Amino acid sequence: MEFRKLRLSGFKSFVEPATLRIEPGLTGVVGPNGCGKSNLLEAIRWVMGENSPKSMRSGGMEDVIFAGTATRPPRDFAEVVLHAADDAGDDLDVVRRIERGAGSAYRLNGRDVRAKDVSLIFADAATGAHSPALVSQGKIAQVIAAKPTERRMMLEEAAGISGLHVRRRDAEQKLRSTEKNLERLHDLMAGLD
Ligand code: ATP
Repeated sequence: MEFRKLRLSGFKSFVEPATLRIEPGLTGVVGPNGCGKSNLLEAIRWVMGENSPKSMRSGGMEDVIFAGTATRPPRDFAEVVLHAADDAGDDLDVVRRIERGAGSAYRLNGRDVRAKDVSLIFADAATGAHSPALVSQGKIAQVIAAKPTERRMMLEEAAGISGLHVRRRDAEQKLRSTEKNLERLHDLMAGLD
């Protein structure tokens, strides 16, 4: 999947509609303290279905709506639109909108969909709100300070092979129970001789 464009409106500090083109390859966001770098990353997570206020550095989900400043009134809604392309190159436009007192609503290519439908699309594409492709501030220091086993887990997650461990455990369990069945079968056959 390829992310192409992000549009934010009323989301955290992005009170005015703002559009960002996401070019192919690695994208870094730089800027002075408090300019909204983390808010941008959170907008990407949020539109992909993030539902933990803690991950959004919020007390509640409605806290993502522009809360107002000394000179500007608060907004009633926040909206993030992500224009992406799936692996076949087809357009994938996802909209998440939250209104005060009304919760979140999602649209996918113009159709109303459930939060689960959106999460599934991104999970299938091995991305999603917890994708290691989104590197937030402090994450690099965390990687440097991590123990070798933790670092390996991060690398495996990034390589998309962490699911293989689960499948390996399942396969080993099946193998053990098959070996037990074989032993039992040998005992039974020995009893028939
Ligand atoms: P730093 O480099 O210091 O980590 P940053 O560039 O990552 O900063 P963010 O943390 O993304 O900046 O943005 C912080 C700004 O967003 C603060 O000024 C904060 O007041 C503003 N902000 C966060 N939530 C809202 C909201 N709901 N309404 C209005 N402003 C908000």
